[in-house]
Amino acid sequence: MRWTVIGCSGSFPGPANACSSYLVEHDGFRLLIDIGNGALGALQNFCDPRDVDAVVVSHLHGDHWLDLVPLAYARPHHPDGRVPPSLPVLLPDPQPLYVLTGKDAAALRPVFDVRPIVDGEVGPFSVTFIPTVHPVNTYAMRIRVGGISIGYTADTAWSDRLAPFFSGVDLLVAEATFPARENGPPGLHLTAVEAAELANRSGAGRLLLTHIPPWLDPQVQYADAVATFTGRVDLARPGWSVRLD
Ligand SMILES: [Zn+2]
Repeated sequence: MRWTVIGCSGSFPGPANACSSYLVEHDGFRLLIDIGNGALGALQNFCDPRDVDAVVVSHLHGDHWLDLVPLAYARPHHPDGRVPPSLPVLLPDPQPLYVLTGKDAAALRPVFDVRPIVDGEVGPFSVTFIPTVHPVNTYAMRIRVGGISIGYTADTAWSDRLAPFFSGVDLLVAEATFPARENGPPGLHLTAVEAAELANRSGAGRLLLTHIPPWLDPQVQYADAVATFTGRVDLARPGWSVRLD
């Protein structure tokens, strides 16, 4: 399974970094996890958006889903005329998508096959979900194929339910939106130290620190995580990619 960072900027895009979006590939199947604002452009550095096979959206904050709207137009409209099959899209709530695309469920169906977030198979992947602590309905997820598992926190404040859910993942992709030495508003996000502590308690093989907002120094977040997590820590950036077998 390969995990590639398409964009990883928290809250709003940076000058050279789209908001959250990750491409997960195995055996030629392309699963896109989140598609925040700016991600559709960045995705084209890695594949034709028509070759994405499924999308999972963790929650309906703009930095995780807004580029579904232009994707609804990009999929069927391309100069070479190739129209891909309907794209399965797992969403916590489809209503904002209908409003922003101006299409109801029936009109959108040729482009998107909108489905609820439920545990199950997505292509070759087995995907399970757990609600996080965030102001809107948000799901962390665990993606498995063969003996390999990757966990993704989505957006969340600290929750004791997360470490058991991520137990033994080979890679934990954890958000680190707040600086370690600053108390942000409650119920929103993790600090880098909390992300690293979550990786420790999960027994994660390695940690990818992500969702760092443009106004923070990522190296400070990285240093805080390295000082806490006992395993390898990487800092997400566009194009960062790892293959786990
Ligand atoms: Zn976010």
